[in-house]
Amino acid sequence: MIEHVRDLRVANSYAELPPAFYTKLRPQPLTNPRLLHANPDVLRDMGLSPRLASDPDFAQVCAGNAPLPNGNTLAAVYSGHQFGVWAGQLGDGRAHLLGEVITSTGHWEWQLKGSGKTPYSRMGDGRAVLRSSVREYLASEAMHGLGIPTTRALALVVSDDPVYRETVETAAIVTRVSPTFVRFGTFEHFSNSPAEQRALLDYVITRFYPECRPPDNDGEPDVPGMALCFLDGVVQRTARLMADWMTVGFCHGVMNTDNMSVLGLTIDYGPYGFMDAFQANHICNHTDTQGRYAWNAQPSVGHWNLYRLAGSFLSLGVEPDALREVLDGYEAAFLDAYHRNMVLKFGLRQWEDGDQQLADDWWKLLHTNQADFTLSFRELADAPEIPDAFVSRFADQGAAREWLDRYIVRLQRDNRPVEERKASMNGVNPVYVLRNHLAQQAIEAAGQGDVSEIDTLLMLLRDPYYERPGYDAFAQAPPPSAAHIQVSCSS
Ligand code: AMP
Ligand code: MG
Repeated sequence: MIEHVRDLRVANSYAELPPAFYTKLRPQPLTNPRLLHANPDVLRDMGLSPRLASDPDFAQVCAGNAPLPNGNTLAAVYSGHQFGVWAGQLGDGRAHLLGEVITSTGHWEWQLKGSGKTPYSRMGDGRAVLRSSVREYLASEAMHGLGIPTTRALALVVSDDPVYRETVETAAIVTRVSPTFVRFGTFEHFSNSPAEQRALLDYVITRFYPECRPPDNDGEPDVPGMALCFLDGVVQRTARLMADWMTVGFCHGVMNTDNMSVLGLTIDYGPYGFMDAFQANHICNHTDTQGRYAWNAQPSVGHWNLYRLAGSFLSLGVEPDALREVLDGYEAAFLDAYHRNMVLKFGLRQWEDGDQQLADDWWKLLHTNQADFTLSFRELADAPEIPDAFVSRFADQGAAREWLDRYIVRLQRDNRPVEERKASMNGVNPVYVLRNHLAQQAIEAAGQGDVSEIDTLLMLLRDPYYERPGYDAFAQAPPPSAAHIQVSCSS
Protein backbone atom coordinates (compact mmCIF):
# COMPACT_ATOMS: atom_id res chain seq x y z
CA MET A 1 0.00 0.00 0.00
CA ILE A 2 1.20 3.47 -0.89
CA GLU A 3 2.46 5.50 2.07
CA HIS A 4 4.11 8.45 0.31
CA VAL A 5 2.58 11.15 -1.80
CA ARG A 6 5.52 10.96 -4.21
CA ASP A 7 4.52 7.36 -5.01
CA LEU A 8 0.92 8.18 -5.97
CA ARG A 9 -0.09 7.35 -9.52
CA VAL A 10 -1.81 10.45 -10.86
CA ALA A 11 -3.73 10.98 -14.10
CA ASN A 12 -5.51 14.10 -15.35
CA SER A 13 -8.36 12.96 -17.53
CA TYR A 14 -10.47 16.04 -16.84
CA ALA A 15 -7.56 18.32 -17.74
CA GLU A 16 -7.37 16.50 -21.07
CA LEU A 17 -10.84 17.70 -22.03
CA PRO A 18 -10.91 20.79 -24.30
CA PRO A 19 -9.83 24.10 -22.71
CA ALA A 20 -13.44 25.33 -22.57
CA PHE A 21 -13.97 23.05 -19.57
CA TYR A 22 -11.67 24.73 -17.05
CA THR A 23 -8.98 27.19 -16.15
CA LYS A 24 -5.63 25.76 -15.13
CA LEU A 25 -4.30 27.64 -12.15
CA ARG A 26 -2.75 27.30 -8.72
CA PRO A 27 -4.59 27.44 -5.41
CA GLN A 28 -3.99 30.47 -3.19
CA PRO A 29 -2.05 29.29 -0.15
CA LEU A 30 -3.31 29.94 3.36
CA THR A 31 -1.03 31.51 5.96
CA ASN A 32 0.34 28.89 8.36
CA PRO A 33 -2.00 26.04 7.37
CA ARG A 34 -2.31 23.02 9.68
CA LEU A 35 -3.63 19.59 8.87
CA LEU A 36 -6.35 19.34 11.51
CA HIS A 37 -7.68 15.94 10.52
CA ALA A 38 -7.20 13.25 7.93
CA ASN A 39 -9.65 10.46 7.38
CA PRO A 40 -8.08 6.99 7.51
CA ASP A 41 -11.31 5.36 6.27
CA VAL A 42 -11.22 7.35 3.05
CA LEU A 43 -7.56 6.53 2.51
CA ARG A 44 -8.30 2.86 3.05
CA ASP A 45 -11.33 2.95 0.75
CA MET A 46 -9.16 4.55 -1.91
CA GLY A 47 -6.75 1.65 -1.57
CA LEU A 48 -4.09 3.84 0.07
CA SER A 49 -2.36 3.40 3.39
CA PRO A 50 -3.65 5.46 6.35
CA ARG A 51 0.05 6.27 6.89
CA LEU A 52 -0.08 8.48 3.79
CA ALA A 53 -1.56 11.18 6.03
CA SER A 54 1.68 11.27 8.06
CA ASP A 55 3.77 12.11 5.01
CA PRO A 56 4.57 15.85 5.31
CA ASP A 57 3.80 16.16 1.60
CA PHE A 58 0.20 15.14 2.29
CA ALA A 59 -0.43 18.24 4.42
CA GLN A 60 1.22 20.38 1.74
CA VAL A 61 -1.07 18.98 -0.97
CA CYS A 62 -4.21 19.33 1.14
CA ALA A 63 -3.31 22.91 2.02
CA GLY A 64 -2.97 23.79 -1.65
CA ASN A 65 0.76 24.50 -1.24
CA ALA A 66 1.90 21.68 -3.49
CA PRO A 67 0.28 20.00 -6.48
CA LEU A 68 -0.23 16.26 -6.64
CA PRO A 69 2.83 14.71 -8.29
CA ASN A 70 2.20 15.13 -12.03
CA GLY A 71 -1.19 16.65 -11.18
CA ASN A 72 -2.64 19.31 -13.43
CA THR A 73 -4.50 21.67 -11.10
CA LEU A 74 -7.61 23.40 -12.45
CA ALA A 75 -10.92 25.02 -11.63
CA ALA A 76 -13.84 23.60 -13.64
CA VAL A 77 -16.55 25.68 -15.23
CA TYR A 78 -20.24 24.84 -15.06
CA SER A 79 -23.58 26.66 -15.11
CA GLY A 80 -26.85 25.98 -13.43
CA HIS A 81 -30.32 26.80 -12.24
CA GLN A 82 -30.33 28.28 -8.77
CA PHE A 83 -33.64 28.30 -6.90
CA GLY A 84 -35.46 27.59 -10.14
CA VAL A 85 -33.85 30.40 -12.12
CA TRP A 86 -31.19 30.13 -14.82
CA ALA A 87 -28.05 31.56 -13.22
CA GLY A 88 -25.77 31.31 -16.26
CA GLN A 89 -22.11 30.60 -15.77
CA LEU A 90 -20.90 29.46 -12.38
CA GLY A 91 -17.99 27.13 -11.76
CA ASP A 92 -15.45 26.17 -9.10
CA GLY A 93 -15.38 29.56 -7.42
CA ARG A 94 -13.37 28.28 -4.50
CA ALA A 95 -12.37 24.78 -5.50
CA HIS A 96 -9.37 23.31 -7.28
CA LEU A 97 -9.23 19.90 -8.89
CA LEU A 98 -5.76 18.49 -8.26
CA GLY A 99 -5.92 15.42 -10.45
CA GLU A 100 -6.97 11.84 -10.32
CA VAL A 101 -5.27 9.32 -8.10
CA ILE A 102 -5.29 5.81 -9.58
CA THR A 103 -5.32 2.93 -7.12
CA SER A 104 -6.40 -0.68 -6.98
CA THR A 105 -9.91 0.54 -6.06
CA GLY A 106 -10.34 2.93 -8.96
CA HIS A 107 -9.75 6.51 -10.04
CA TRP A 108 -10.25 9.13 -7.35
CA GLU A 109 -10.27 12.80 -8.14
CA TRP A 110 -8.93 14.97 -5.35
CA GLN A 111 -10.44 18.42 -5.06
CA LEU A 112 -9.70 21.23 -2.62
CA LYS A 113 -12.61 23.37 -1.44
CA GLY A 114 -11.83 26.76 0.04
CA SER A 115 -8.49 27.02 -1.76
CA GLY A 116 -8.79 30.54 -3.12
CA LYS A 117 -10.19 32.61 -5.94
CA THR A 118 -10.64 31.39 -9.49
CA PRO A 119 -12.06 33.04 -12.62
CA TYR A 120 -15.43 31.66 -11.45
CA SER A 121 -15.46 33.28 -8.01
CA ARG A 122 -17.77 36.13 -9.02
CA MET A 123 -18.18 38.22 -5.83
CA GLY A 124 -16.87 35.47 -3.57
CA ASP A 125 -13.55 35.41 -1.75
CA GLY A 126 -12.65 31.87 -2.76
CA ARG A 127 -12.60 30.73 0.86
CA ALA A 128 -14.59 28.40 3.09
CA VAL A 129 -14.92 28.87 6.82
CA LEU A 130 -13.99 26.30 9.45
CA ARG A 131 -17.64 25.83 10.45
CA SER A 132 -18.87 24.81 7.02
CA SER A 133 -15.75 22.78 6.33
CA VAL A 134 -16.23 20.69 9.48
CA ARG A 135 -19.88 20.27 8.51
CA GLU A 136 -18.95 19.00 5.04
CA TYR A 137 -16.21 16.80 6.46
CA LEU A 138 -18.57 15.12 8.91
CA ALA A 139 -21.62 14.94 6.66
CA SER A 140 -19.88 13.15 3.81
CA GLU A 141 -18.77 10.46 6.20
CA ALA A 142 -22.18 10.31 7.90
CA MET A 143 -23.81 9.71 4.53
CA HIS A 144 -21.25 7.11 3.60
CA GLY A 145 -21.87 5.32 6.90
CA LEU A 146 -25.58 5.25 6.06
CA GLY A 147 -24.78 3.67 2.72
CA ILE A 148 -25.90 6.74 0.77
CA PRO A 149 -23.85 7.70 -2.29
CA THR A 150 -21.71 10.76 -1.60
CA THR A 151 -18.45 12.50 -2.32
CA ARG A 152 -15.97 11.72 0.45
CA ALA A 153 -13.92 13.97 2.71
CA LEU A 154 -10.24 13.11 2.95
CA ALA A 155 -8.67 15.91 4.95
CA LEU A 156 -9.36 19.13 6.81
CA VAL A 157 -6.79 21.91 6.84
CA VAL A 158 -7.22 24.99 9.04
CA SER A 159 -5.54 28.36 9.35
CA ASP A 160 -5.92 31.64 11.20
CA ASP A 161 -6.65 33.63 8.05
CA PRO A 162 -9.77 35.71 8.64
CA VAL A 163 -12.83 35.16 6.48
CA TYR A 164 -15.62 37.71 6.56
CA ARG A 165 -19.13 36.31 6.74
CA GLU A 166 -21.88 37.54 9.12
CA THR A 167 -19.01 37.61 11.61
CA VAL A 168 -15.25 37.14 11.20
CA GLU A 169 -14.39 33.46 10.99
CA THR A 170 -11.28 31.53 9.98
CA ALA A 171 -10.43 29.82 6.70
CA ALA A 172 -10.27 26.08 6.17
CA ILE A 173 -9.86 23.71 3.23
CA VAL A 174 -11.56 20.36 2.80
CA THR A 175 -10.00 17.86 0.42
CA ARG A 176 -12.86 15.97 -1.20
CA VAL A 177 -12.58 12.87 -3.29
CA SER A 178 -14.96 11.48 -5.86
CA PRO A 179 -14.78 9.51 -9.11
CA THR A 180 -15.92 12.76 -10.72
CA PHE A 181 -17.29 16.16 -9.77
CA VAL A 182 -19.27 16.61 -13.01
CA ARG A 183 -22.65 18.16 -12.28
CA PHE A 184 -25.94 18.55 -14.14
CA GLY A 185 -24.75 22.14 -14.51
CA THR A 186 -21.64 21.04 -16.40
CA PHE A 187 -23.90 19.69 -19.15
CA GLU A 188 -26.12 22.76 -18.94
CA HIS A 189 -23.06 24.94 -19.49
CA PHE A 190 -22.45 23.34 -22.86
CA SER A 191 -26.08 23.09 -23.95
CA ASN A 192 -25.39 25.43 -26.89
CA SER A 193 -21.95 24.02 -27.69
CA PRO A 194 -22.55 20.66 -29.36
CA ALA A 195 -18.86 19.80 -29.77
CA GLU A 196 -18.11 20.28 -26.08
CA GLN A 197 -21.38 18.68 -25.07
CA ARG A 198 -20.44 15.65 -27.11
CA ALA A 199 -16.96 15.54 -25.58
CA LEU A 200 -18.46 15.66 -22.09
CA LEU A 201 -20.97 12.96 -22.93
CA ASP A 202 -18.20 10.72 -24.27
CA TYR A 203 -16.16 11.43 -21.15
CA VAL A 204 -18.82 10.44 -18.61
CA ILE A 205 -20.06 7.49 -20.64
CA THR A 206 -16.60 6.05 -21.17
CA ARG A 207 -15.74 6.34 -17.51
CA PHE A 208 -19.00 5.87 -15.63
CA TYR A 209 -21.76 4.61 -17.92
CA PRO A 210 -20.09 1.92 -20.02
CA GLU A 211 -23.51 0.39 -20.72
CA CYS A 212 -24.19 3.46 -22.90
CA ARG A 213 -21.06 3.05 -24.99
CA PRO A 214 -21.83 2.46 -28.66
CA PRO A 215 -20.71 -0.91 -30.03
CA ASP A 216 -17.19 -0.94 -31.46
CA ASN A 217 -17.69 -0.78 -35.21
CA ASP A 218 -16.95 1.64 -37.98
CA GLY A 219 -20.42 3.20 -38.17
CA GLU A 220 -21.33 6.63 -36.82
CA PRO A 221 -22.25 6.30 -33.13
CA ASP A 222 -25.88 6.90 -32.23
CA VAL A 223 -25.31 10.08 -30.21
CA PRO A 224 -28.98 10.67 -29.30
CA GLY A 225 -29.16 7.04 -28.16
CA MET A 226 -26.07 7.55 -25.99
CA ALA A 227 -27.52 10.71 -24.46
CA LEU A 228 -30.82 8.96 -23.70
CA CYS A 229 -29.08 5.99 -22.15
CA PHE A 230 -26.94 8.29 -20.01
CA LEU A 231 -29.97 10.34 -18.99
CA ASP A 232 -31.78 7.17 -18.01
CA GLY A 233 -28.84 6.18 -15.80
CA VAL A 234 -28.84 9.57 -14.09
CA VAL A 235 -32.63 9.41 -13.68
CA GLN A 236 -32.34 6.04 -11.94
CA ARG A 237 -29.50 7.11 -9.67
CA THR A 238 -31.09 10.44 -8.77
CA ALA A 239 -34.38 8.73 -7.96
CA ARG A 240 -32.60 6.32 -5.62
CA LEU A 241 -30.65 9.15 -4.02
CA MET A 242 -33.84 11.10 -3.32
CA ALA A 243 -35.43 8.01 -1.74
CA ASP A 244 -32.33 7.55 0.41
CA TRP A 245 -32.36 11.17 1.55
CA MET A 246 -36.06 11.00 2.39
CA THR A 247 -35.81 7.88 4.48
CA VAL A 248 -32.99 9.16 6.69
CA GLY A 249 -34.55 12.60 7.12
CA PHE A 250 -31.82 14.40 5.18
CA CYS A 251 -32.43 17.81 3.64
CA HIS A 252 -29.79 19.01 1.20
CA GLY A 253 -30.80 22.63 1.40
CA VAL A 254 -29.45 23.88 -1.96
CA MET A 255 -30.59 21.49 -4.65
CA ASN A 256 -29.54 23.80 -7.47
CA THR A 257 -28.62 21.99 -10.67
CA ASP A 258 -24.97 22.90 -10.13
CA ASN A 259 -25.13 20.87 -6.90
CA MET A 260 -26.44 17.69 -8.56
CA SER A 261 -23.91 14.99 -9.38
CA VAL A 262 -24.21 13.03 -12.63
CA LEU A 263 -23.25 9.98 -10.59
CA GLY A 264 -26.20 10.44 -8.22
CA LEU A 265 -23.88 11.32 -5.34
CA THR A 266 -24.71 13.72 -2.56
CA ILE A 267 -22.45 16.69 -3.29
CA ASP A 268 -21.79 20.22 -2.02
CA TYR A 269 -22.81 20.10 1.61
CA GLY A 270 -23.90 23.57 2.66
CA PRO A 271 -26.85 24.33 4.90
CA TYR A 272 -27.93 20.69 4.92
CA GLY A 273 -29.62 19.08 7.89
CA PHE A 274 -30.65 15.76 9.32
CA MET A 275 -34.05 16.34 10.83
CA ASP A 276 -34.57 16.09 14.55
CA ALA A 277 -38.31 16.66 15.17
CA PHE A 278 -40.08 15.57 12.01
CA GLN A 279 -41.77 18.19 9.93
CA ALA A 280 -42.71 17.18 6.42
CA ASN A 281 -42.10 20.67 5.06
CA HIS A 282 -38.94 21.23 7.09
CA ILE A 283 -36.60 23.80 5.52
CA CYS A 284 -32.99 23.46 6.63
CA ASN A 285 -31.62 26.47 4.75
CA HIS A 286 -32.92 29.67 6.27
CA THR A 287 -32.12 31.54 3.05
CA ASP A 288 -34.74 29.34 1.32
CA THR A 289 -37.69 31.43 2.39
CA GLN A 290 -40.10 29.82 -0.09
CA GLY A 291 -39.27 26.28 0.99
CA ARG A 292 -38.30 25.26 -2.54
CA TYR A 293 -35.92 22.70 -1.07
CA ALA A 294 -38.02 21.58 1.90
CA TRP A 295 -37.71 17.90 2.86
CA ASN A 296 -40.94 16.85 1.15
CA ALA A 297 -40.13 18.84 -2.00
CA GLN A 298 -36.85 17.06 -2.71
CA PRO A 299 -38.15 14.20 -4.89
CA SER A 300 -39.99 16.56 -7.22
CA VAL A 301 -37.06 18.98 -7.30
CA GLY A 302 -34.85 16.06 -8.29
CA HIS A 303 -37.20 15.46 -11.21
CA TRP A 304 -37.26 19.15 -12.14
CA ASN A 305 -33.46 19.21 -12.12
CA LEU A 306 -33.35 16.16 -14.39
CA TYR A 307 -35.53 18.10 -16.85
CA ARG A 308 -32.83 20.77 -16.94
CA LEU A 309 -30.17 18.14 -17.60
CA ALA A 310 -32.33 16.58 -20.32
CA GLY A 311 -32.87 19.96 -21.97
CA SER A 312 -29.13 20.31 -22.45
CA PHE A 313 -29.18 17.36 -24.89
CA LEU A 314 -31.44 19.05 -27.43
CA SER A 315 -28.40 20.47 -29.20
CA LEU A 316 -27.18 16.91 -29.78
CA GLY A 317 -30.30 16.27 -31.84
CA VAL A 318 -32.19 14.27 -29.24
CA GLU A 319 -35.96 14.33 -29.78
CA PRO A 320 -37.89 16.09 -27.00
CA ASP A 321 -40.41 13.24 -26.87
CA ALA A 322 -37.66 10.70 -26.37
CA LEU A 323 -36.20 12.79 -23.52
CA ARG A 324 -39.63 13.08 -21.94
CA GLU A 325 -40.14 9.36 -22.09
CA VAL A 326 -36.92 8.75 -20.18
CA LEU A 327 -37.81 11.48 -17.66
CA ASP A 328 -41.19 9.81 -17.17
CA GLY A 329 -39.36 6.84 -15.69
CA TYR A 330 -38.36 8.94 -12.69
CA GLU A 331 -41.50 8.55 -10.63
CA ALA A 332 -41.58 4.77 -10.83
CA ALA A 333 -37.86 4.61 -10.05
CA PHE A 334 -38.31 6.88 -7.03
CA LEU A 335 -41.32 4.95 -5.71
CA ASP A 336 -39.57 1.67 -6.21
CA ALA A 337 -36.54 2.83 -4.20
CA TYR A 338 -38.70 4.52 -1.58
CA HIS A 339 -40.81 1.40 -1.10
CA ARG A 340 -37.71 -0.75 -0.86
CA ASN A 341 -36.30 1.54 1.83
CA MET A 342 -39.58 1.66 3.74
CA VAL A 343 -40.01 -2.11 3.62
CA LEU A 344 -36.64 -2.42 5.33
CA LYS A 345 -37.28 0.38 7.82
CA PHE A 346 -40.64 -1.11 8.79
CA GLY A 347 -39.21 -4.63 8.97
CA LEU A 348 -41.59 -6.02 6.36
CA ARG A 349 -41.02 -8.84 3.93
CA GLN A 350 -42.22 -6.90 0.92
CA TRP A 351 -44.28 -3.89 -0.09
CA GLU A 352 -48.00 -4.57 -0.32
CA ASP A 353 -50.88 -2.45 -1.59
CA GLY A 354 -52.11 -1.14 1.75
CA ASP A 355 -48.61 -0.17 2.87
CA GLN A 356 -48.78 3.22 1.20
CA GLN A 357 -51.53 4.22 3.63
CA LEU A 358 -49.60 2.84 6.58
CA ALA A 359 -46.51 4.81 5.56
CA ASP A 360 -48.45 8.01 4.84
CA ASP A 361 -50.11 7.78 8.23
CA TRP A 362 -46.73 7.16 9.87
CA TRP A 363 -45.39 10.42 8.44
CA LYS A 364 -48.59 12.16 9.51
CA LEU A 365 -48.20 10.80 13.03
CA LEU A 366 -44.59 11.96 13.26
CA HIS A 367 -45.48 15.33 11.77
CA THR A 368 -48.42 16.19 14.04
CA ASN A 369 -46.46 15.07 17.08
CA GLN A 370 -43.14 16.56 15.95
CA ALA A 371 -41.64 13.22 16.89
CA ASP A 372 -37.93 12.71 16.45
CA PHE A 373 -37.24 11.26 13.00
CA THR A 374 -34.36 8.96 13.89
CA LEU A 375 -35.53 7.80 17.31
CA SER A 376 -39.05 7.05 16.09
CA PHE A 377 -37.79 4.65 13.44
CA ARG A 378 -35.24 3.11 15.77
CA GLU A 379 -37.79 2.49 18.50
CA LEU A 380 -40.25 0.95 16.09
CA ALA A 381 -38.30 -2.32 16.23
CA ASP A 382 -39.27 -2.86 19.88
CA ALA A 383 -42.67 -1.17 19.72
CA PRO A 384 -44.80 -4.29 19.06
CA GLU A 385 -43.38 -5.98 22.17
CA ILE A 386 -43.30 -2.92 24.44
CA PRO A 387 -46.02 -0.67 23.01
CA ASP A 388 -46.40 1.58 26.06
CA ALA A 389 -42.84 2.84 25.90
CA PHE A 390 -43.27 3.65 22.21
CA VAL A 391 -46.65 5.33 22.59
CA SER A 392 -45.52 7.43 25.56
CA ARG A 393 -43.13 9.34 23.30
CA PHE A 394 -45.98 10.91 21.35
CA ALA A 395 -48.04 13.89 22.46
CA ASP A 396 -51.15 12.31 20.95
CA GLN A 397 -50.86 8.86 22.51
CA GLY A 398 -54.24 7.74 21.17
CA ALA A 399 -53.15 8.33 17.59
CA ALA A 400 -49.82 6.59 18.21
CA ARG A 401 -51.56 3.55 19.70
CA GLU A 402 -54.05 3.39 16.83
CA TRP A 403 -51.23 3.47 14.26
CA LEU A 404 -49.18 0.94 16.18
CA ASP A 405 -52.13 -1.47 16.32
CA ARG A 406 -52.41 -1.36 12.54
CA TYR A 407 -48.67 -1.85 12.21
CA ILE A 408 -48.81 -4.91 14.48
CA VAL A 409 -51.62 -6.42 12.38
CA ARG A 410 -49.48 -5.80 9.30
CA LEU A 411 -46.48 -7.51 10.91
CA GLN A 412 -48.64 -10.47 11.88
CA ARG A 413 -49.56 -10.96 8.26
CA ASP A 414 -45.85 -11.19 7.43
CA ASN A 415 -45.32 -13.61 10.29
CA ARG A 416 -41.59 -12.98 10.55
CA PRO A 417 -39.73 -14.29 13.60
CA VAL A 418 -39.52 -11.35 16.02
CA GLU A 419 -35.78 -11.49 16.58
CA GLU A 420 -35.09 -11.70 12.87
CA ARG A 421 -37.32 -8.71 12.19
CA LYS A 422 -35.77 -6.65 14.98
CA ALA A 423 -32.21 -7.40 13.93
CA SER A 424 -33.07 -6.49 10.38
CA MET A 425 -34.71 -3.19 11.41
CA ASN A 426 -31.81 -2.30 13.68
CA GLY A 427 -29.50 -2.82 10.75
CA VAL A 428 -31.23 -0.11 8.70
CA ASN A 429 -32.62 2.40 11.21
CA PRO A 430 -29.62 4.29 12.58
CA VAL A 431 -29.06 5.13 16.22
CA TYR A 432 -26.82 8.05 15.35
CA VAL A 433 -27.19 10.69 12.69
CA LEU A 434 -25.26 13.91 12.29
CA ARG A 435 -27.64 16.16 14.16
CA ASN A 436 -26.95 19.88 13.89
CA HIS A 437 -26.17 20.27 17.56
CA LEU A 438 -23.62 17.45 17.41
CA ALA A 439 -21.92 19.04 14.42
CA GLN A 440 -21.94 22.32 16.33
CA GLN A 441 -20.12 20.78 19.30
CA ALA A 442 -17.49 19.38 16.98
CA ILE A 443 -17.09 22.76 15.25
CA GLU A 444 -16.60 24.57 18.55
CA ALA A 445 -14.01 22.05 19.74
CA ALA A 446 -12.25 22.15 16.36
CA GLY A 447 -12.04 25.92 16.68
CA GLN A 448 -9.93 25.29 19.79
CA GLY A 449 -7.79 22.77 17.92
CA ASP A 450 -9.52 19.86 19.63
CA VAL A 451 -10.48 17.11 17.20
CA SER A 452 -11.77 14.63 19.77
CA GLU A 453 -15.41 15.43 18.91
CA ILE A 454 -14.71 14.90 15.22
CA ASP A 455 -13.08 11.57 16.06
CA THR A 456 -16.01 10.51 18.22
CA LEU A 457 -18.57 11.45 15.59
CA LEU A 458 -16.65 9.72 12.81
CA MET A 459 -16.39 6.60 14.98
CA LEU A 460 -20.14 6.57 15.69
CA LEU A 461 -21.25 7.53 12.20
CA ARG A 462 -19.03 4.98 10.51
CA ASP A 463 -21.45 2.31 11.75
CA PRO A 464 -24.49 4.30 12.83
CA TYR A 465 -26.63 1.22 13.43
CA TYR A 466 -24.46 -0.15 16.21
CA GLU A 467 -25.47 1.16 19.62
CA ARG A 468 -22.31 1.81 21.59
CA PRO A 469 -22.39 1.78 25.37
CA GLY A 470 -21.47 5.15 26.86
CA TYR A 471 -22.60 7.25 23.90
CA ASP A 472 -26.24 7.79 24.81
CA ALA A 473 -25.89 11.54 24.53
CA PHE A 474 -25.10 11.22 20.82
CA ALA A 475 -28.30 9.29 20.19
CA GLN A 476 -30.61 11.81 21.83
CA ALA A 477 -32.75 14.52 20.33
CA PRO A 478 -31.20 17.95 20.95
CA PRO A 479 -31.95 19.78 24.17
CA PRO A 480 -34.65 22.43 23.54
CA SER A 481 -32.01 25.18 23.56
CA ALA A 482 -30.27 23.60 20.57
CA ALA A 483 -33.30 22.35 18.67
CA HIS A 484 -33.52 25.17 16.16
CA ILE A 485 -29.99 25.89 15.00
CA GLN A 486 -30.28 27.83 11.75
CA VAL A 487 -27.83 27.23 8.96
CA SER A 488 -27.35 29.63 6.09
CA CYS A 489 -25.76 29.53 2.67
CA SER A 490 -22.90 31.79 3.74
CA SER A 491 -20.28 29.18 4.17
P1 AMP B 1 -23.04 26.62 -3.71
O1 AMP B 1 -24.51 26.80 -3.92
O2 AMP B 1 -22.57 26.85 -2.30
O3 AMP B 1 -22.59 25.27 -4.18
O4 AMP B 1 -22.27 27.72 -4.55
C1 AMP B 1 -22.70 28.23 -5.78
C2 AMP B 1 -21.57 28.83 -6.55
O5 AMP B 1 -20.95 29.90 -5.83
C3 AMP B 1 -20.46 27.85 -6.89
O6 AMP B 1 -20.06 28.11 -8.19
C4 AMP B 1 -19.37 28.17 -5.90
O7 AMP B 1 -18.09 27.86 -6.37
C5 AMP B 1 -19.55 29.66 -5.68
N1 AMP B 1 -19.13 30.10 -4.35
C6 AMP B 1 -19.74 29.86 -3.17
N2 AMP B 1 -19.07 30.43 -2.16
C7 AMP B 1 -18.00 31.05 -2.71
C8 AMP B 1 -16.91 31.81 -2.18
N3 AMP B 1 -16.79 32.07 -0.88
N4 AMP B 1 -16.01 32.29 -3.06
C9 AMP B 1 -16.11 32.05 -4.37
N5 AMP B 1 -17.10 31.35 -4.92
C10 AMP B 1 -18.04 30.84 -4.11
MG1 MG C 1 -22.06 24.17 -5.36
